[in-house]
Amino acid sequence: MGIRDIHVIFEKWRFHCALCRGEWERVFEARHADDGHGGDHVAWTLAGQASLPPWVDQTCPSCRGLHVKALPAGTLIPPQR
Ligand SMILES: [Zn+2]
Repeated sequence: MGIRDIHVIFEKWRFHCALCRGEWERVFEARHADDGHGGDHVAWTLAGQASLPPWVDQTCPSCRGLHVKALPAGTLIPPQR
């Protein structure tokens, strides 16, 4: 076997700041890879850079607040390459 099964999906997430009530959206790239032991490893990418998962440690772009709520807003079809 040896060949890892990797598939990439794009997930849109919606964020809401509890401090300034700002709302915004970001599209994350989730690269799913079989870890070879029946598990699923997900590497997150945002704008081409490695990222924490969307629900971890988000900072409000307006007030820099850390009270950010993340909600999944849908899965996008990956673009053809
Ligand atoms: Zn804010």
